[in-house]
Amino acid sequence: MQNARVANARELHDLNQKPNNNSHFPYELFQLLLPEMKRILLIILLSAAIGCEPVEKEVVEHEPEEPKIARNIIFMIGDGMGISQITAAMIANQKPLNLERFPVVGLIKTSAKDDLITDSAAGATAFATGEKVNNGVISLSEDGKPLKTILELFHDKGSLTGLAVTSTIVHATPACFVAHRSYRYMYEEIAWDIAHSDLDLFIGGGKKYFNQRSDSINLFDSLRSKGILTGFPMDSIEHGGPDNERPNFFDNHPPSMIDGRGDYLQIAASKSISYLNSDGNGFFLMIEGSQIDWGGHANDMKAIIAEMIDFDEAIGIAYDFAEKDGNTLLVVTADHETGGFAINSGKLNGDSLVGGFTTIHHTPAMIPVFAFGPGAELFSGVYDNTEIFHKFKQASGIKD
Ligand code: MG
Ligand code: ZN
Repeated sequence: MQNARVANARELHDLNQKPNNNSHFPYELFQLLLPEMKRILLIILLSAAIGCEPVEKEVVEHEPEEPKIARNIIFMIGDGMGISQITAAMIANQKPLNLERFPVVGLIKTSAKDDLITDSAAGATAFATGEKVNNGVISLSEDGKPLKTILELFHDKGSLTGLAVTSTIVHATPACFVAHRSYRYMYEEIAWDIAHSDLDLFIGGGKKYFNQRSDSINLFDSLRSKGILTGFPMDSIEHGGPDNERPNFFDNHPPSMIDGRGDYLQIAASKSISYLNSDGNGFFLMIEGSQIDWGGHANDMKAIIAEMIDFDEAIGIAYDFAEKDGNTLLVVTADHETGGFAINSGKLNGDSLVGGFTTIHHTPAMIPVFAFGPGAELFSGVYDNTEIFHKFKQASGIKD
């Protein structure tokens, strides 16, 4: 009985595949060849119409134009900025975010070498060097060799380089672009690396790791002799004289938005861009919205939204510059999602938003990548976080 049913089902299946299986006419072959036959007929007709000109040559696509090289790269990392973090800011903002201006969007997978769930050190090392490392590692290979970073490659080709963040400058995300250490919490060692690096400017907190060190060395001497500018008034990033107001070089992290950081990141972004763009030889600038992540760890939706909107305003400054400049590739992404954050309910006007969290840690959710400017099209699709480095090299014409 069951066998008979199976046989019937198979017959039915066969019948569906071959509607004319009683005929000897090669129906399938005919259907397969039909589009090709139509194409050949069209070519014959076209040839006749334009006097036997070799039509195939006309049909062939033109040689692709040489893609424009990105002279500058502005890379913006929203630490812990997943889709829901962006969505919450979008709803709360009640006007389009600057993130909505980007023509190209992709998705990255974020895992670390030794862990499905990355930390900010492995995440930023992947962006900065194109290599997967274990969690906690700052741009160092397994056998203890420094991994060359995209920022260092820009310096090597004669471009200026900078970092502007809302955490200490020795924190994992910025550290991975200039420092090479086995463990992210080696803050004094990372400060040493920064003070002896080829950076041209940085803005962030962490002054105490430079001038109140356990080895009693004052790294400001090194910063001065290397010509590295900071937000510290004495080493103002402004050309015509010191800026005694902001951005200050805080001893520790700059405050959160809720605690009154104000327009620190916007000033940092616009001043960094104008300083680095001043010599016309290109620049690499990494700007981080460092504290979106901390809102996620604290399961604090209000903090996430405040940090997100602040970061998005800095994105607007970078986007306006890139749009006017025409030679700047602007890429915005995150190292990972934090909190397993979702929006569970809320009103259309942005009121009464209720968020939920699945963890106080990071999650392996894929992360969006937004791109604008020369080479932006390289950033569409779904790919690994290490690809960001290779795409930067390709877009800026840096050969191996
Ligand atoms: Mg960070
Ligand atoms: Zn985190």
